[in-house]
Amino acid sequence: ERVGFAIIGLGRISLEQVLPAFAECRLARPVALVSGSPEKAALVARQCGIRPEAVHPYAQFERLRDDAAVQAVYIALPNAMHREFAERAAAIGRHVLTEKPMATNSEDCAAMIAACARADVRLMVAYRCQYELVNRAAIRLAQSGELGRLRFLQAMNLQSNGPGPQWRYSRQLAGGGALPDIGLYCLNAARYLSGEEPVEVVAQAWSPPGDARFAEVEESMSFTLRFASGFLAQAQSSYGAYQEKSCRLAGERGSLLLEDAFAYRGQRLRLFRREGESGIDQRVQIQPRNQFALELDHMARCVREARRPHTPGEEGLRDQQIMEAIGRSALHGRPEAILPLPADRPVR
Ligand code: NAD
Repeated sequence: ERVGFAIIGLGRISLEQVLPAFAECRLARPVALVSGSPEKAALVARQCGIRPEAVHPYAQFERLRDDAAVQAVYIALPNAMHREFAERAAAIGRHVLTEKPMATNSEDCAAMIAACARADVRLMVAYRCQYELVNRAAIRLAQSGELGRLRFLQAMNLQSNGPGPQWRYSRQLAGGGALPDIGLYCLNAARYLSGEEPVEVVAQAWSPPGDARFAEVEESMSFTLRFASGFLAQAQSSYGAYQEKSCRLAGERGSLLLEDAFAYRGQRLRLFRREGESGIDQRVQIQPRNQFALELDHMARCVREARRPHTPGEEGLRDQQIMEAIGRSALHGRPEAILPLPADRPVR
């Protein structure tokens, strides 16, 4: 029997990526919906083969307690709402898979971790790229020593966003602009590719003057993270540039180019290194798989086997703390130290 998920929020990520991905899952299935729109939810339930009685409004979320088919919830609401629904899920004994960014501040992240620990339910942040096979191959290569000592990462997550108003332009609902929404992928990649934690950041934010969308949140955030080994990771994220989602990793003996690293599909990996007298440029072939399905199946396996997810709440909290240091650096125009992880609370 597959692990049953209740889908909380039927916006774009749920409708366009996650619900369709269940068709490619082996261990996870959608069994309930929680939505603010009864007509939309009824239609989606019919399309996905979900029982009409398993569709609930937000106010009646706690009815999931009486539905034995629901073992986990997937939270796909505006960022500031993740905490409330994670705590409500933990309170009725359901495991939590929450979208990224985990929340809008580190206090909320810590509260989510505590609530899930108290209730003894799993908590996973939907860092899909860490389940995507080409990114995983890049991680293996980076950590195999084949590139030599890692020196530089350069990542971009750029897109041209449409007009508002929408929750992404609200500081209260989103927590920030391009950084927590898409710059987060660059930050997370710097950490998972290097396997190291940053110790200091220098950042700059920019918003076009007079653009009402960016009255509260940044349009662009550029940052450089310094790691203890000397590894430097530089990233640009923006809502105001033509789409670019690539990541380059340079080591002393070789480098990687991950094209469309952070896209929903279409990742490509090239490996450059010296061989004998000349350099080689090798395309690494990997059979593609749906990263959303891999992510959902990972959560389902963790629920079944009572295992800690590969991207637990602590991973979301760490990124949030680093994003807060990035924000302070951009605000004050100076380098900001990043506090080390407590020795007794490792991310993994
Ligand atoms: P969306 O705007 O398309 O959907 C948000 C949903 O929340 C809608 O169904 C909306 O009705 C509902 N909602 C409930 N209360 C709301 C309120 N007060 N204000 C606005 N909407 C409210 O957003 P989305 O793109 O689906 O993003 C949802 C979450 O998923 C966010 O946390 C986002 O960062 C994350 N996300 C992740 C990925 C990914 O690749 N992993 C991609 C996109 C979005």
